[in-house]
Parts: sequence; C-alpha cells; structure tokens
Amino acid sequence: MIGLVSVTAAGAAASARLVAAWPDGTRCYDGPTAEAVRRAWGECDQLVCFLATGATVRLVAPMLGDKRSDPAVVCVDEAGRHAVALLGGHRDGTADGCGANQLAEQVAGVLGASPVITTATDVTGVPGLDTLGLPVEGAVAAVSRALLDQEPVQVQVDVAWPLPALPGTAVQSDQSKPDRSKPGQPRPRIVVTDRLLPAGAQTVLLRPPSLVVGVGASRGVSADEVEQLIGAALAHGGLSMASVGALATVHDKADEAGLVTVADRLGVPLSTFPASRLASVAVPNPSAAPLAAVGTPSVAEAAALVAAGADDLLVPKRKSAMATVAVARRAPRGRLTLVGLGPGARDLLTPRAIAELRSASVVIGLDQYVDQIRDLLRPGTHVLASGLGDEEARAQEAVTTARSGRSVALVGSGDAGVYAMASPALEFAGDDIDIDIVGIPGVTANLAASALLGAPLGHDHAVVSLSDLHTPWEAIEARVRAAAVGDFVVTFYNPRSLNRRQQLPLALDILREHRPPTTPVGVVREATRADEQVLLTTLADLDVDVVDMRSVVIVGSTNTRAVAGRMVTPRGYRWMS
Ligand code: SAH
Repeated sequence: MIGLVSVTAAGAAASARLVAAWPDGTRCYDGPTAEAVRRAWGECDQLVCFLATGATVRLVAPMLGDKRSDPAVVCVDEAGRHAVALLGGHRDGTADGCGANQLAEQVAGVLGASPVITTATDVTGVPGLDTLGLPVEGAVAAVSRALLDQEPVQVQVDVAWPLPALPGTAVQSDQSKPDRSKPGQPRPRIVVTDRLLPAGAQTVLLRPPSLVVGVGASRGVSADEVEQLIGAALAHGGLSMASVGALATVHDKADEAGLVTVADRLGVPLSTFPASRLASVAVPNPSAAPLAAVGTPSVAEAAALVAAGADDLLVPKRKSAMATVAVARRAPRGRLTLVGLGPGARDLLTPRAIAELRSASVVIGLDQYVDQIRDLLRPGTHVLASGLGDEEARAQEAVTTARSGRSVALVGSGDAGVYAMASPALEFAGDDIDIDIVGIPGVTANLAASALLGAPLGHDHAVVSLSDLHTPWEAIEARVRAAAVGDFVVTFYNPRSLNRRQQLPLALDILREHRPPTTPVGVVREATRADEQVLLTTLADLDVDVVDMRSVVIVGSTNTRAVAGRMVTPRGYRWMS
C-alpha cells in the first residue's frame, strides 16, 4: 500500500492523480501533517509525501529503524517537477512493493515529473549487489564501495548461474592475474556459491537458487519438523538454506500442509512428480515404506534428482520421525532473451526490453542495433556486435553462450521475431530445453510506418519481404499475387537495395493488375529515426527511386483512401459508397 501525504492544494491535486492511476494501491492520509506521516509510516510499505525533502526528513527521522523494514519514501515538490527517492532506494523486489528508486520512477511517470535518484550504484550504472536478484550475504557495503571506486574485485564462481554484468574491474578468478595484494590484506571478493563459507570482511556471497530439496512426509507432518530436517541436511552437506530454489515431492503430497507451508516460508515452488516417474530413478537408499504408501521406493532422493535433472545427490536421504529429505544441485540454466529494440526512437524501446538489456551479461547483435542501446548497458556487459550477413553465426553464438550458463540478450530492430534473429536462434536451440528463452516484443517497422501514415492497417493486411536472398523470387511473386487477389493491404519489407532494383517494380505491377491507379501508397524511410521521411502517393505516381533498404512501402487495398493527407483503410464496409 502506498500512503499519500499532502498539505497544499497543489499537493492534494497531484495526490489525486496517483489515486486515479492506482485506485487499489493508494491511501490518503489527512489531518495534521506530522500525525499523517506517522500514521502512514506505521501502516504502509511505501510513502509519497508532497512535501519538501527537509520537512519530510524532520518528520520521519524519529521513526527511522532498519533500512530493510522501513517504508520506502518518495518526496514530490510543490510544482510536481521532481519525484525524489528519499529513503529505501534499493528495497526492490520484496513482497512489500518496490523500493523508493523504482517508486520515484513510477510516480514521476504518472505526474510527468523527473525522478531523482541518488543511490550511487543506480546513478553510475554499477549494479547494486543487492539488486542482482539473488540473496546476498556478507560485506555488501565494502565490496560495493570497491566496485564504485573501480578497484579490482575477484569473482569466484563456485556455481555457474546467469547473472547481470558486473563492472569491468570484477574479474573471474581463473582469468585474473596472480594475486598481488599484500598477505594479510584480503582483496574484495564476490563468491557465487551455494556452500556455507566464512564470508570475511571483504567477501560477498551471492546465493544462486541452485539447490533442490526432495521431501517425503507422512500425512500430518508439521512444517517445523520439515524445516528443521531440511536445515540439518543442508548443514550436514555444508550448504546454504538461501540457495534452496525448489522443494520437490510426489504428486500425492502436493497439498500436504507441512510441505506447502515450508515452501511458502522459503519462498520457493513445491514441484511434484508422479510416483511412476520417481520409481524409475535409481537412488542410493530405496525403501519399502514409501513403495507401499505411494508406489515408489524413494520420494525424497528420487524427487531431488528428478527436479534437479541431476545424477548425484549432494546429501543423501536423512530422516526425522515423519519426514525424509535429500538434496541435489541443478545445472545452471542460461537465459536467452530475444529483444526487439523498436524502430529506432529511444522512447519506442519498451521498459521491459530495457530491463532485459540491463540484466544481461552478454549482448549480441548487428553493430548498428547494438550502438542504438550501448549507453543503456551495465558497465562490464560483454558486447558482441557484428556486421550484416552474419545472422546465423550470431544466433548460434547467442545460444552457445546462454548454454554456458550466462544471461544473453540477442537484439534486433523492430521485433526480434520479424524477419530477424529469433527464428534462427530458436531453430539452433532445437528441442533441448536446457536454457530459458524469453521473447520481448518490439514495435515493428510496419507498425511505426503505419502510425506515421495514418491507419493503413485498419483492415486485413499482409507483409511480404522482397528480399530474394533466402526466398526464391517465384515464391515471393506468388505471395504478392495472392495478396493482390485477396485485396490485402500489403507492406513490403526489404523493398529495394543497390543490387536489388527489379523486385519492387515487379511487385507493384502485380498489384496494379488488381487495384486502381489511385490506390494510396505510403513510403516511410527511417521511421522514428533522425532522417525520417514519410511520403503518401498513389500506385500511379510512386517513384521507386525514393525507396531504399531503410524503407517500408505500404500499398493500400481497394478500400484504402487518403483522408486529410493520411492513409486510411476503413474498418468495415458499411460506410462505403
Ligand atoms: N525486425 C524488423 C525488420 C528487420 S528486416 C522489424 O520488426 O521491423 C529490415 C527491413 O525492415 C528494412 O529493409 C526495412 O524494410 C525495414 N525497416 C526496419 N527499420 C525501419 C525503419 N525504422 N523505417 C523503415 N523501415 C525499416
């Protein structure tokens, strides 16, 4: 819940806009200001104060406690120009809502204000170690300081896991030069591990969710018993509870309250498998009891192995009165995101695409596209940019790199799935589901051009690429003919290059056989980029020399018309004369 505190009329008006934007997520606090802030502080996870920062600081100062549990606080000035993240900047991704940095961005978005963010790691683009999406322990402040000061930080990867980029001064130990630090002077270190290790004054432990705990239980087992047994098994194996990524059991126990509660407490899923699947796994310690009860000689060990996709257990079966547990480690799953960058303008790049670019440690794409977003990448991001023509090699490299356990973004203009890299990447990834693959849609050239021209795609339309590099011309011609006969609006991609000059005139001739010479045609070059050109003409008047590879051509259907200089394809036929 976001508590809103305003004093002046302007503050109240801005506050009302937040209420209108988030009716279920906000609550207004009225009355004497100090009292209102005190009540909001006690009842809300996030506060937006339409007050000066100084006034807000004085009001909340007596209530400050722990930075992990204090509410996030954002101040908005009287003119509604700035949304200042005042307190709790990084408390992101918790059940209590986002931290003040993100809240400031959201508030600024609604009010048309500028967010003001002062936490060092956000401002410099160096990732806050507590914002990597993994639990972190140890000397977070000291190691963050070292990263900010560009001191060398050793990264030791005990368990490979896809992470966002770390700054260039963070170097994996196996590649780093011999340790020149003076004996007795430990160097700052980041260790990615699920093991229990002594952290020390200069070490941060990042906990990947790499452990799977298989659990068997008798009906009615208590959550406390299960949790204690898990704790004991992990301690026995020298493993950290913070790295438990899933619990696993047999289907029959899917609603066993003790197991469900422990999964909730740990914030992990409870995966279940049919007894027949568990029975098919060879385990070190099979037993007769579960065979009789649920139909498999092993629940804990078999479920841990199956859920982790592992061959060996880290901790074999351990028992308490009513439960059994076993622990396995899952292989790291790399992540490949196929990110559409939109047609060119920065504000047509989606926030989701930006978030993915910033959480990738490797970005792969055509150099002109990578250049479009280079400034958004975290320092230390490994960039593999290449020239035109290497599409397959790029797609292959992206998949191979993700398979090594890294977090890879493969970028393309418009949408990455439209005449772009997503298809070769998915084909190359094949049927092995060994990496997570996520598509992030982008605004295509077709949509950007359509919006600039008016509404040419208001009714059925077809998109045809005129590039005969990978498609025989006969096939392209047949499709154009079908679209012509079907009276589709047609968008031509890759319409014309220095070496391919004949295709567009041929395609237009086919359309001319089925449409009047007055049919509107739109040509959009460099849509939403600096050299954008928009031309509305007709089938009879189109001069193909204005068209190049950075253009799309949209030819209207027999219903498309020009309205006040805009190209419009009517939605239905009932208004037709
Ligand atoms: N994935 C892209 C298409 C890549 S194919 C998308 O979703 O839009 C490359 C072709 O797209 C170019 O030859 C041109 O026809 C078209 N194109 C891409 N960006 C464009 C832009 N900003 N303006 C006009 N056409 C563009």
